[in-house]
Amino acid sequence: MSLRDLVRPNIWRLQPYSSARHEFEGQADVYLDANENPYGSAFSRYPDPLQLQLKQVIARYKSMPVDQIFLGNGSDEAIDLIMRIFCRPGIDEILVLFFTYGMYKVSADICDVKVNECLLTSDYQIDVEGVRQAITPETKVLFICSPNNPTGNLMDRERIEEVFRFFHGIVVIDEAYMDFAPANQSWLRTLVNYPNLVILQTFSKAWGLAGIRLGLAYASKEIIHLMNKVKPPYNVNQLTQKAALDALTMGLEKKEAEVIEINSERKRLTTLLEDRTEVLQVFPSEANFLLVKFSDPAKVFQHLKTAGIVVRDRSKTPLCEGCLRITIGTPEENNLVLETLNLMI
Ligand SMILES: *Cc1c(COP(=O)(O)O)cnc(C)c1O
Repeated sequence: MSLRDLVRPNIWRLQPYSSARHEFEGQADVYLDANENPYGSAFSRYPDPLQLQLKQVIARYKSMPVDQIFLGNGSDEAIDLIMRIFCRPGIDEILVLFFTYGMYKVSADICDVKVNECLLTSDYQIDVEGVRQAITPETKVLFICSPNNPTGNLMDRERIEEVFRFFHGIVVIDEAYMDFAPANQSWLRTLVNYPNLVILQTFSKAWGLAGIRLGLAYASKEIIHLMNKVKPPYNVNQLTQKAALDALTMGLEKKEAEVIEINSERKRLTTLLEDRTEVLQVFPSEANFLLVKFSDPAKVFQHLKTAGIVVRDRSKTPLCEGCLRITIGTPEENNLVLETLNLMI
């Protein structure tokens, strides 16, 4: 299937908004083309709509061409754009692998796009036959989250490759937590083999920059071109671009050290939780959280809450019955969780 067959016709035809800076590409001394305040501050000018300087640094860091990178107001913006580029409201459908990140469904619901769900297997892997059967002629996008939220596991590579063999719509692999997984698990290096693949990453998790709202998508340059066409012209503000540039140029060692610390805490917490009688199971995690099955999750949740510790209650979601999702905190925060559990009667 060609890309054109997957894209909504109105999006394919779309003439994007052309900003003042877009139409004038040279260097000028006096900018009177965008109705900005001439006095202003460091922020009086509109930001670069295509964030070129930042993308060049990311391109070097990830060994990816600039024209295969999209930057958005969080990965959530990329998810929304994918929905609006490929799915005709009231007609097209997406497929999600239940249970997973909630935004895929919310974004689809907002766009009036039907959501089909295929349950993961009991060990939280892709049910390839189930996916094959859940796909309809209207299925435009399949969302795969790896490592998956809230289960924490990586999705098996061979199974995803199998899905690529029979599904020719858009496959989104959400790698929000990939920084915490062992090296070389990302799908980035295989992008050349799959013109229908979109990879999502984010500055919100390992980079410790959830507050700046910066998400990334990597895909063929044709798909990235469509995303740039549909996005609001100035979707990534100047402060965000600056903070990300600073992190990439001066904060790489800090980020890497923190990932090592978080992963070692994940291991320590896993062992200590496994020893507890009220814990039935700690699921193996390649992310910065643990999915933990308790004999009485409501009691644990309430007890932690009373002590001022909030975790995510997943005890009523399919395949996660009885489970709470606990983010790995600092060693002190993790100790507090353990000590609080000790006081539970
Ligand atoms: C946290 C998270 C994101 C990040 O979203 P942002 O909008 O970039 O903050 C994306 N996908 C998953 C699965 C997540 O858990």
